[in-house]
Amino acid sequence: MSKTYWLAGAAAAFALTTGAQAQPAPAPRPYDAAVFAAAKALQPKVVAWRRDFHEHPELSNSEVRTAKIVADHLRKLGLEVRTGVGKTGVVGILKGGKPGKVVALRADMDALPVAEQTGLAFASKVTAQYNGQTVPVMHACGHDSHTAILMGTAEILATMKDQVDGTVVFIFQPAEEGPPPGEEGGAPLMVKEGVLKNPKVDAIFGLHAFPGPVGAMVWRPGPMMAASDRFEIQLKGRQAHGSMPWQGIDMSSLTADIVTAFNQVTSRQINVSKTPTVLTVATLHGGLRYNIIPEDMTLTGTLRTFDPGMRTDVIARAEKAVTSITERYGASAKFTWGNHNPVTDNNRILAAAMKPTLTRATGGKVLDDIDYIMGAEDFSYFQKEVPGFFYHLGVGNPKGGNHSPFFDVDEAAMEIGVRAQALMALDFLKGS
Ligand SMILES: [Zn+2]
Ligand SMILES: [Zn+2]
Repeated sequence: MSKTYWLAGAAAAFALTTGAQAQPAPAPRPYDAAVFAAAKALQPKVVAWRRDFHEHPELSNSEVRTAKIVADHLRKLGLEVRTGVGKTGVVGILKGGKPGKVVALRADMDALPVAEQTGLAFASKVTAQYNGQTVPVMHACGHDSHTAILMGTAEILATMKDQVDGTVVFIFQPAEEGPPPGEEGGAPLMVKEGVLKNPKVDAIFGLHAFPGPVGAMVWRPGPMMAASDRFEIQLKGRQAHGSMPWQGIDMSSLTADIVTAFNQVTSRQINVSKTPTVLTVATLHGGLRYNIIPEDMTLTGTLRTFDPGMRTDVIARAEKAVTSITERYGASAKFTWGNHNPVTDNNRILAAAMKPTLTRATGGKVLDDIDYIMGAEDFSYFQKEVPGFFYHLGVGNPKGGNHSPFFDVDEAAMEIGVRAQALMALDFLKGS
C-alpha cells in the first residue's frame, strides 16, 4: 500500500475541490442536520466503545466478548438480533417506518497478533493462543473503530426509524483477517450461512480505517483492492556438512533460485501494463546451525492480482518454476495454495450513485480515483453476491500503517464515519 502517494494524491485532490474547479456541493437532505447532530452527540459513546474494544482485542474467530457487547447494544435498541452467524458474528435487523429495499452495513471485529507500541493509555496488554503459541494481540487494523462506528450508526438509525424507508441489516463480521489454519470463517462463512438472505439484501456498504486526511473518504470504482492467495512451499533436500555442500543439496542456493524465479515471473513474464501483480516470498525457514546444510526449508508468501486470467497464469508459472528448480537440484517440493480472497470490486453504478452521499457526509473530502491497493479484503465475498461499495476513511497519520504496532485512529474521524454510514443507509433506501 503506497501510503505516501496516497496522501500526496489526496491532498492535491482536496486542494482542487476547494479551488476554481470545485464541483457544486450536493444539496442537503431533510435528515442531514439530524444525522449530523446525532453523530456529534454520540461521539463520546463511540469513542468509549472503541477504546474498550482496543484494550480488549480478540483474534479472528474468538470475538466472543466483542460480539456480546455488540449484541447487547443492538437488543437494547430494539433490533432483531442474530448471534453465532459465521461462528461469532452478530447481525442486527432494523425495520424502518415504511417497507422498501434492504441495505446492509458491515463492520469487522477481529484483531491481529501484533505487540502494540502506540503508548496509548488504553493500549492492549492482551495475549492469546495462535498457531500453538502465546502471542500479543492488538487492534492494528482499526477494526475496533469499525465496530464502534457501526454501533453508533445503529443507534442513530434506530432513533430515526420512522425516516428509514426499508430495512437495514447491520453485519458485525468475525475473522476478516482470515480464520486460524484449518477453520472456516469471515465473510465467506457468513454468506454461506445466509447473511444476505432473509431479508434479501439489495446492496452492501463497508468502510475501512486507513492512514490519510482525517474524515476523508477515498475509493476507486470497479476493482479497488487485490485478490489475495496464500502459499506455502515445503522443500526437501539432503542434509550435509556446511563445508561439503557437494555431499548434500544446497538448500539456500535452491531457495534463492526460487525467489529470483518468482520475481522474474511478475516482472518479465506477464503483461505488466494490464493490472498490477505482486508475488512475494515473505518467510524462509530452515536450518539450525551455521555449519549444517538443512534437509528442509519452508517458504511462505502471498500472491496479489486483479485479473483472474493473470492469477491462473502466475500460479502455473510459479509452480513450473519450483518444479524445474527442485528437479535441477535433486530436491522435492510440496506447493500448497490457500486462503483465496477475490478482488474487492466496487459496483460502478452504486459507487457513482452514492458519491453525493459521501460528499455530504465528509463536507466534500472525497476522492474516487485512488491507485489500486494491493491489500485484500474479504468484503469481496459480499460483493460477489450483491452490489457492494467499499471505501476508506482517513484516520490521520499514525507512526505506522495498518498492521503496524504503531497503527492508531484519530478518533475525530469516527464521527464522520458514523455520519457517512447513517446517510448511506438512509439515502440508498430513499432511492439515493
Ligand atoms: Zn487488516
Ligand atoms: Zn482490516
